[in-house]
Amino acid sequence: MNDPQNPLFNHLMPITERPAEVFVRGEGAWIWDAAGKRYLDWLQGWAVNALGHCPPLITQALQAQSTQLLTPSPAVYNRPALELAARLCELSGFAQVFFGSTGAEANEGAIKLARKWGRLHRAGAHEIITFENGFHGRNLATMAASGKAGWDLLFPPQMPGFAKARLNDLSSVVSAINERTVAIMLEPVQGEAGVRPASPAFLKALRQLCDERGLLLIFDEIQTGCGRLGHLFAFQQAGVTPDIMTLGKGLGGGVPISAVLAQAHCSVFEHGDQGGTYAGNPLMCAVSLEVLNVTSQPAFLANVLAMGRLLRHGLEALSDRMGLGEVRGDGLLLALELGNDAAPTMVRECRAQGLLVNAARPGCLRFMPRLNSTASEIEQGLEILQKVLRRAMEAKAAMA
Ligand SMILES: *Cc1c(COP(=O)(O)O)cnc(C)c1O
Repeated sequence: MNDPQNPLFNHLMPITERPAEVFVRGEGAWIWDAAGKRYLDWLQGWAVNALGHCPPLITQALQAQSTQLLTPSPAVYNRPALELAARLCELSGFAQVFFGSTGAEANEGAIKLARKWGRLHRAGAHEIITFENGFHGRNLATMAASGKAGWDLLFPPQMPGFAKARLNDLSSVVSAINERTVAIMLEPVQGEAGVRPASPAFLKALRQLCDERGLLLIFDEIQTGCGRLGHLFAFQQAGVTPDIMTLGKGLGGGVPISAVLAQAHCSVFEHGDQGGTYAGNPLMCAVSLEVLNVTSQPAFLANVLAMGRLLRHGLEALSDRMGLGEVRGDGLLLALELGNDAAPTMVRECRAQGLLVNAARPGCLRFMPRLNSTASEIEQGLEILQKVLRRAMEAKAAMA
């Protein structure tokens, strides 16, 4: 099975470089490949599996809901969608929710909502200020909203209407504003950029700027939301309330569901503006309700903070001992700067040693363990990481 020469491997489009292993089973913090090798998984489906692989409560919710109702169409009410929307609003303070399946779909919905609001209340203003190195998804609108280097040249013509500013640089935002500007959209922590947090002072200044200029503030919390940073939502931690927020990833804990949340004053979709075949399907909403019930508990969030501190201290100690770079992030979204471009090599070495991590950038490793991690898992991961980094250093010293 694990043989890329096998013709079975010819029929998936080659969208990215994939390791040769085929992954067949996951349980909690661990994932197994077809050869039976076990890995400590600090990718967790890219910060998706908040409760780790295949938690029984998801299996049970899927089983129970799948005997009742799968997809009645988004044009009728179903109970899990009503309940999940109400619960999300209660927990976040937002007024209304639209459900999608992916993060990109949620962000596209947020962009449409802002443009609609601009048409109704701002004389057709429609431009959205987004940020260099930001990431908002892979459909055409969200690729244009993203600030990944080179993405402006892929798939031309690029969708217009997204001016770029620099994170934590207020004057770059101010100078991007014109009479067509309707909103400012950002990740409270830029995840794909290598875990780069917006400072609380910057977020507060953006809120004030939006209030002064009559702009909407949109937070993309697809990666930072649902407990990842040790608070249910990053905006609550920052003490800055956006007008629109998007969620995904950990919202479903492993199943595809995303959400656009809006305050009442900008929840302006009218019939026909927005939809989607799977929007708010009861199967995914039922799962998300169970996941959210766990991830919103104060004791659960306290564990995210505690495990985040443990991992951060371990990474800082490693960095000190080996003369590496800074550790960034909050909760269980952390990155270690290596000071060289060896991150992809370190990812391969870690995998060989039984630890899955991500190279968010060539010089930076990112860690996204399950939110219900235990101290022993964190220590095991740090041990493997230390072994791999030390070996790489010794090899380099021997070459010199
Ligand atoms: C993952 C991610 C997205 C895109 O989500 P998909 O489900 O892959 O479409 C958008 N924004 C942020 C901040 C993300 O981390």
